[in-house]
Amino acid sequence: MLLDTNQNEVQPQLLFLNPIFKEMVWGGARMAEQFGYELPGTDTGECWGIAAHPNGDDTIRGGIYDGMKLSSLWNTHRELFGNLEGDRFPLLIKIIDAKENLSIQVHPDDARAARYENGSLGKTECWYVLDCPKDATLVVGHYAKTREELKQMIHEGRWNELIREVPIQKGDFIQIDPGTVHAITAGCMILETQQNSDITYRVYDYDRLTDGKPRELHVEQSIASILVPAKNADDSVRHLANLAQNEWHELIACPYYRVFKLNLNGSYEMNQSYPFLNVSVLNGNGSLNGQPLKKGEHLIIPAKYGKMKLEGELELVASTVNVAS
Ligand code: ZN
Repeated sequence: MLLDTNQNEVQPQLLFLNPIFKEMVWGGARMAEQFGYELPGTDTGECWGIAAHPNGDDTIRGGIYDGMKLSSLWNTHRELFGNLEGDRFPLLIKIIDAKENLSIQVHPDDARAARYENGSLGKTECWYVLDCPKDATLVVGHYAKTREELKQMIHEGRWNELIREVPIQKGDFIQIDPGTVHAITAGCMILETQQNSDITYRVYDYDRLTDGKPRELHVEQSIASILVPAKNADDSVRHLANLAQNEWHELIACPYYRVFKLNLNGSYEMNQSYPFLNVSVLNGNGSLNGQPLKKGEHLIIPAKYGKMKLEGELELVASTVNVAS
């Protein structure tokens, strides 16, 4: 516990973040309407809600750390993060608004990224579907049976045979392990929880041009990284549309993170005993220990925060690291 000048215990402050927005060829303007964000333009694809990455380092909003970058807070106040080890804040939380299809891609695992990408982390990620068109699908996995077949299908551009599309609906949750071919499709809005890494190998970009040129592809790195055969589709998608209210549901526990969902209507009390807890407010209005929370906000509840009382009507997704307890 922190102590004040009279040696009384004080509860550490909530860390609210100023998100960073990214313009993308496939982006749109829907996040302004949905979450009340001030977007830099009408092709905004990503909101980095909780991020401490060289390509996007959020600042803290309000409180004693106002204006400080999350990466510096991680470096200088590790006690807020349960004194975890590691040279960087481990997770990255984004909202993705796909007006157009995203490229079909794959991420390396830690070992491959460390070896070939200057010591970067690999990327495991998961998606909570905030919104999607009726009869939407996402690309998750592929149909090649052997690496040889994978190579052939990619080199011959047989995308329809290769790419596996799985049906999704609002409220679905999808885990994307490294080596999984994946893509978010037009019209989908997603909350992504991922390892703090930005290493993406693009396999196919629908032959699109940006400023008259195709975006770079990483075909050989992709072929080397893709898991063959792909994991069963049923093992990747969970339907969560009817989660019971006022309960803390764990959506996934993998080596890098644990993700939770809470649909609150009334009040809920718990003890924040994780090294830290990322929270994104997906819907509603309410409060945490009396401090207002509103749709579109992202915050970190620091270590030793202790007793937390959530009140109101709130839909939250939260995450933390998976440490052996
Ligand atoms: Zn990805």
